[in-house]
This record gives sequence, C-alpha cells and structure tokens, in this order.
Amino acid sequence: MHELFAVIPDTGAEEGELSWQERSLCAQTDPEAFFPEKGGSTREAKKVCVGCEVRAECLEYALANDERFGIWGGLSERERRKLKKRAV
Ligand code: SF4
Repeated sequence: MHELFAVIPDTGAEEGELSWQERSLCAQTDPEAFFPEKGGSTREAKKVCVGCEVRAECLEYALANDERFGIWGGLSERERRKLKKRAV
C-alpha cells in the first residue's frame, strides 16, 4: 500500500470509500520508489502505475486532497500541478 495511506486520518468516510487503495498495485512493491529523493528517478514508480487498475482513482484522490509528495496515479508532483493548472 502507498506509504502515505497509513497516516491518512480517519475521516469518518463510509466504509468502502477507500477500497481502491486495497487494490493498489504499489501495495505489492517498494513504497520508497513512490517517494523519490528530490531529483531522483520516478521511472520505476511510474512503471508500476501503468499497470495499476486503480490508477484513475488514485490520481483523482491525490488531486482532490492536494497531495504534494510522491507519485500518485502515475504522475509526479510537478505533473499533477500542471494538470491542475490546465483544469482551472
Ligand atoms: S496508480 Fe500508482 S501510486 Fe496509485 S495506487 Fe496505483 S500503483 Fe500506487
């Protein structure tokens, strides 16, 4: 599971709302790849995301929650910022 999921506080969301995270492919891989050091490679993480069945949910979640760090839904912080700008 994505490393950050462990620290997301219980928002009282309906059960099942976060269930996409249970199907996340990165749960079975090295979470460190998803939070590379500044300037580090994001290639490995993105490769995992490409084959992830909940990629859309993951990206949507990151955008909705303004996640700043790490790879979410196959996009880096910078790529998500760009996407947001385009959306407004
Ligand atoms: S899209 Fe990538 S970061 Fe998101 S759950 Fe899937 S593998 Fe993890």
